[in-house]
Amino acid sequence: MSTSQYFLDLESKYGAHNYHPLPVVLTRGEGVFLWDVEGKKYFDFLSGYSAVNQGHCHPAILKTFIEQASKLALTSRAFHNDQLGVYAKFIHDYFGYDKILPMNTGVEAVETGIKLCRKWAYEVKGIPENEAKIIVCEGNFHGRTTGVISFSSDPDSTTNFGPFLPGFIRIPYNDVDALREALKQPGVAGFLIEPIQGEAGVLVPDDGYLFQSKKMCEEARVLFIADEIQTGLCRTGKMLCCEHEDVRPDILLLGKALSGGMMPVSAVLADDEIMMTIKPGEHGSTYGGSPLACATAMAALNVLKDENMAERAEVLGQKLRKALRDLNSPFIAEVRGKGLLNAIVVKDTDPDAAWKFCLRLMENGLLAKPTHGDKIRFAPPLVITAQQLDECVEIIAKSI
Ligand code: PLP
Repeated sequence: MSTSQYFLDLESKYGAHNYHPLPVVLTRGEGVFLWDVEGKKYFDFLSGYSAVNQGHCHPAILKTFIEQASKLALTSRAFHNDQLGVYAKFIHDYFGYDKILPMNTGVEAVETGIKLCRKWAYEVKGIPENEAKIIVCEGNFHGRTTGVISFSSDPDSTTNFGPFLPGFIRIPYNDVDALREALKQPGVAGFLIEPIQGEAGVLVPDDGYLFQSKKMCEEARVLFIADEIQTGLCRTGKMLCCEHEDVRPDILLLGKALSGGMMPVSAVLADDEIMMTIKPGEHGSTYGGSPLACATAMAALNVLKDENMAERAEVLGQKLRKALRDLNSPFIAEVRGKGLLNAIVVKDTDPDAAWKFCLRLMENGLLAKPTHGDKIRFAPPLVITAQQLDECVEIIAKSI
């Protein structure tokens, strides 16, 4: 039995079957590379669903992480620590919001955004109790809690997990007319949106959609809540994807690359009118704002700026999409994306073609994963070089 098979069997026997990973068992990562337990080296073209924008085990982030973990990892919010205040100011200076509410996983940031929006609706906007509604989009992916799946349109997320939370209006994505209509309903408090729908297969909305949506929300006094958990932190060629259209969300949700892959760190950013509606004891999390999380996040954010990751993503993303289109392959129906958040749509009569193609990519030394059957995300760490990207395109061409 191979070493990989040993670990695959262990996981299958003792772990819940809630994922369907590629059959590769990884043991080490550095920059854009991963190694499996047999010592084979791969290009990572998923980046932990964009959690490792800074590359695996980035030395500066790792150093801070180890130093802080060796000194003080967790205090809980029952006591103060000497990192949280510094981090809160750092985030204020970095993103320009009055305040941060620190959480851990992405979905917790989304839950927090929903609670904040509802609080604001009742206490500031004056919507009658329990009547606040949040507009969401078809095809959304915001995580897996019962609250968040309540407004999912994906049967895999919802089947046999009901009953669901009320208070959401679902409209088609990338449709300003649908948003205009929905905003007319009574009790609307927020519009929750992914600036690019990542899990849906990197669906990039039309130019102007985010700008128009934000404007309509302002006119209706509805909070624009941007889930930048996957699109943020330089992935799409700007620090935030909303910056492509000069949109400043009212509530900004961050996660994933906020820790450069070291640990779950998420954050909700808003100005005082919204953030100060939450009072002590009304929301929180044991690990949120831990000294370890705060120190790690500051290091991870510094790396993004120090290494010009937004510019890299913009330039290399254009290069990647051009190279993929230039392959002129009948197997690729579409190439789409922004920055280094990209996907191809596979054209084949075999419904398993995308999965089989990813197996072939794996054999040839590149790790990518299909989403929703026929789409494959190509999102390498932003530290990838132009030369490495050329090598990756060669692997893709060979695999086709
Ligand atoms: N929001 C978006 C846009 C995501 O892509 C994800 C995860 O892929 C989440 C929220 C949930 O994040 P987490 O898996 O850390 O809970």
